[in-house]
Amino acid sequence: MLKDRYNRIHDYLRLSITDNCNFRCSYCMPDEKMSFLKQKLLMSPEEIFDISKIFVQLGVNKIRLTGGEPLVRKDFGEIISKLSLLPIKIGITTNGLLIDNYLEELKKADISSINISLDTLNDQKFKTITQRNHFAKVWENIQRCMQENIHVKLNMVVIKGVNDDEIIDFVNLTKDLPIHIRLIEFMPFDQNNWNKEKVLSNKIALQKISEQFSLFKLKDDKNDTDKKFGIFGHSGTISFISTLSDSFCSTCNRMRITADGKMKNCLFGKDELDLISAFRKGENIIPIIKKSIFLKHQKLGGQFDDYKNIQPHNLENRSMIKIGG
Ligand code: SAM
Ligand code: SF4
Repeated sequence: MLKDRYNRIHDYLRLSITDNCNFRCSYCMPDEKMSFLKQKLLMSPEEIFDISKIFVQLGVNKIRLTGGEPLVRKDFGEIISKLSLLPIKIGITTNGLLIDNYLEELKKADISSINISLDTLNDQKFKTITQRNHFAKVWENIQRCMQENIHVKLNMVVIKGVNDDEIIDFVNLTKDLPIHIRLIEFMPFDQNNWNKEKVLSNKIALQKISEQFSLFKLKDDKNDTDKKFGIFGHSGTISFISTLSDSFCSTCNRMRITADGKMKNCLFGKDELDLISAFRKGENIIPIIKKSIFLKHQKLGGQFDDYKNIQPHNLENRSMIKIGG
């Protein structure tokens, strides 16, 4: 069992399988031309499986594949089919563009729920945010998932002045669709043009929604990062991820491996330990994993407390695309 100095048990691994992406979301990656890791530096499907197996031995019961965009990997089908042999719940976070290529594999791996990122329902705005013209295809894939009985959780990063005017439109989707909408506060990462004025706190979003809809609280699981609500008369549900305004660090059970094989114990932490080099040399990586968990800070990577006082240039971290969200 992986327990840190604050008695938090870590049983959830978020695994970035690539830092490459077919979108260019401004809040996730730097403006400059990005260079991505060469294929041979990425963990192979066998390495992903073997490393995951070690985490499972240490008590991990859930692994989420993320990136970059996990579905741009040509061997995604092989990765998922190998992981489905482990006694874990598998999660996937994707921008949705390539889902139709993998529906068969997802079904075979018993994936019953998928997190898809969508920040706008307007195709022009979609193009501005992602720098790609793929709204229609993503929306079609969202519908395909629902037809295949895969529960869709839509991740919407709310940015003031960009898409906060669409919150109600997103909630309206839940009227007839059995979809779950997750409103995520805009977080600061390396060179993502973050400033506190662009953050719409979940409290304000909740107020806005409550003025138009009749909400009731749903039960959250003990390590959930989101606070869930139902809406009377609606098929779908909504939730709020208030990483900045009301952090959930006290119940954190998450750890991360970046696409270049570094272990990160916190989304906002600057400490990284090189797991993949040791693994490739045939060394025992368990002491490295335990050390990483031991080093975990109590809150927000030890880098800030009140988000209103964050000076983005003082934060030491990667961009989100290089961490794995
Ligand atoms: N490409 C996949 C996708 O977009 O879903 C997976 C990787 S992406 C980094 C994972 C999640 O992080 C997405 O839901 C994305 O919206 C979210 N994300 C990226 N940058 C963020 C930021 N600055 N603040 C809040 N969420 C962010
Ligand atoms: Fe790509 Fe996802 Fe980042 Fe957008 S949020 S650039 S889709 S990794």
